[in-house]
Amino acid sequence: MTLLKVDELQVIVRGGMAVDGVSLTLGQGEVLALMGESGAGKSLTAAAIVGLLPPGSRMKGGIIAFKGKRIDQSNRAGWRKLRGKHICAVFQDPYGALDPLQTIGVQLTQTLRTHQPQLTRALLRDRVAEWLEAVSLSADRASAYPHELSGGMRQRVALALAMAPGPEILIADEPAAALDMPLRAQLAGLMRRLAQAQNTSVLLISHDIRTALAAADRVAVMYAGRVLETGPAAAVLQSPRHPYVAGLIASMPGLAERKHRLPVVSGRMPLPGTAPRGCVFRQSCHNASDQCRAERPAQPASGAACFHPLPELADAGIRA
Ligand code: SF4
Repeated sequence: MTLLKVDELQVIVRGGMAVDGVSLTLGQGEVLALMGESGAGKSLTAAAIVGLLPPGSRMKGGIIAFKGKRIDQSNRAGWRKLRGKHICAVFQDPYGALDPLQTIGVQLTQTLRTHQPQLTRALLRDRVAEWLEAVSLSADRASAYPHELSGGMRQRVALALAMAPGPEILIADEPAAALDMPLRAQLAGLMRRLAQAQNTSVLLISHDIRTALAAADRVAVMYAGRVLETGPAAAVLQSPRHPYVAGLIASMPGLAERKHRLPVVSGRMPLPGTAPRGCVFRQSCHNASDQCRAERPAQPASGAACFHPLPELADAGIRA
């Protein structure tokens, strides 16, 4: 079942088109990683989905639907209801989700009590301990204040706070970006396990290919406000068809065994409102043709938005 459907989303930032025609679906229990460089439009896409677009930006077109019902025109009360229970979010900076003046035990208790008011005090205590354990923290951490925990621990507490209400969708915007590489993979794996246990769907925003690999079923790769390639995570990451996606993967040394080098991306991503006519990647693409300069390739439901996609690799990870 499709829980979330984003169709032809457009977001404008200070007059420039920062998200231009993005379409995505998120199925029940699925983990979709929305990947791309900083400024590609992935965080704005996520912010539009939860109705939290930053000042200076607005949705210009498209539809966002949750369980078949349009939510992008919700009023403040509608968003509050959706965000509190059905769609929860965890962001890069866990301090945004944590109250520095309350212990994490108190914060977890308040969250659980809001969504399960029938729980007795003893049961609440048990649930707090269970949630701490679920995010690999000992129960005695309940008495700790956020500043007494490491960055990785704080991010795990933020994850527990987001997952405790039992949301149907978790939006995770670069939750591991501030952590060391081993901790990133750990957090991504933990998030996937928790989501699977609760049948929660996850939209994971990440610029880190390894994090996406560790957590996602499917990936969608953005560039200059467009989705350039989408499909099953293993297929896209091992045998990318879009020249930009192939270059992005090539820039990650040691990601896969390769006999030959993949083409590395050169040039800069166009800023919002400055994308060229035709394909948004054409100024950096070695394969650009007259068609690429004249027309913009449409985003397919699965595959590469490219007039001349790279051939599928028989031996994944190897490109001549
Ligand atoms: S559409 Fe053309 S310019 Fe764009 S990525 Fe494909 S080959 Fe390159």
